[in-house]
Amino acid sequence: MQLSRRVNRLLVLIGLVVLAVVIVRKIVPSATPEVNQQEAEMGQTMTPNHPGSPSSSTNPLLQEVGEPEGILTHVGDTDRPRANATLLSLVRNSELRGIVRTMRDVERTFNSKFNYPWTFFNDVPFTEEFKQKTQAMTKAPCRYELIPKEHWETPAWINKDLVGVSSEILEEDDIMYAKQQSYHQMCRWNSGMFYKHPALKDVRWYWRIEPNTRYYCSIDYDVFRYMEDNDKTYGYVINIYDAPQSIRTLWPTTMEFVAQHPEYVHANNAIQWLTDNDVRPNHNVIANGYSTCHFWSNFEIGDMDFFRSDAYDKYFEYLDHAGGFFYERWGDAPVHSIGLGLFLDKSKIHWFKDIGYLHMPYYNCPASKKCSGCRAGRFTDAGYLNRENCIDNFFKYVHAD
Ligand code: GDP
Ligand code: MN
Repeated sequence: MQLSRRVNRLLVLIGLVVLAVVIVRKIVPSATPEVNQQEAEMGQTMTPNHPGSPSSSTNPLLQEVGEPEGILTHVGDTDRPRANATLLSLVRNSELRGIVRTMRDVERTFNSKFNYPWTFFNDVPFTEEFKQKTQAMTKAPCRYELIPKEHWETPAWINKDLVGVSSEILEEDDIMYAKQQSYHQMCRWNSGMFYKHPALKDVRWYWRIEPNTRYYCSIDYDVFRYMEDNDKTYGYVINIYDAPQSIRTLWPTTMEFVAQHPEYVHANNAIQWLTDNDVRPNHNVIANGYSTCHFWSNFEIGDMDFFRSDAYDKYFEYLDHAGGFFYERWGDAPVHSIGLGLFLDKSKIHWFKDIGYLHMPYYNCPASKKCSGCRAGRFTDAGYLNRENCIDNFFKYVHAD
């Protein structure tokens, strides 16, 4: 009797423990599914001495980071002309709080000193509240632009049935936003449409700003003039790996285009960065030849004339007709990065290491008295995500200095 009661209690206890484990597994938020997938590939993925890791002795963000070298225009250098530039944000009405928060950072660290206009884009009209609350954040003019339907909607040549089937496969591969059509449309717009918007016709430079991103360091020179005066085309802060299952045919499709247009490939390109397979060979295998390293495009400071060039724009058109924005989940980040890596002189790509930045879950955090709120050298709060940092490869192949 005594014994069977004990056995019973033991069984109940074991049952409770199993139940607790199941519940914890269900409710504890893990990293994104894409990251988990990548984690599963671990083993060959850890890079030693990673710049993303604060303990790294080679991390250039840990040495005092100053302003870039070259021609700089500081606050008060009023004799120098301003650049033809805008702060640019694609944003939803529902993200008003997030964009206001980011505007507060951008205005404090940079734009209250330089007063560049803001241009907001949306696929539906902005609300009056959105317009009032964003304009209240800046002395600079704000423009609110509707995206033309023909720039936003899924193109007619995309087969809806095929999109349905493909989205199942993407979901099996744990690709986020697989079935969110608007996400695919957004990626396509950011890849090949933003620079065609009539409101930007006469504008050359843009700084892409996303809601809920953070800026931590005072920027006392005009970043647009820096780009123009020092012959730069594209500036980034974060360089990471992509989920290879979202872009399985992007590289092969790119190679088809390049075979038809070898003349567009720049002699001083960054193809080694694009095709590295030392660090994460599985990424290269799944993405059929592409390392998946890319500039994280939620921050970019760029020259729209590059994107408007025949090389890039024809490349976009080719990709668009191949359908991977919808049958896969090609992001604007890898598309921009491949275009830049192939068609641009790689010396025209600039790492803004002095710009402290966060788009969850990744930071660019320089050691500098000009920064606050961001721990120098930190790449992410989730240690295991440090291996997503790809900037080592960019140093190896591009900024060898
Ligand atoms: P993630 O960073 O890849 O998770 O994607 P986000 O949700 O941050 O979207 C990227 C950018 O596009 C953000 O600036 C969003 O505000 C914007 N965005 C995404 N989808 C839509 C949409 O359907 N309409 C509009 N107007 N903006 C969108
Ligand atoms: Mn985002």
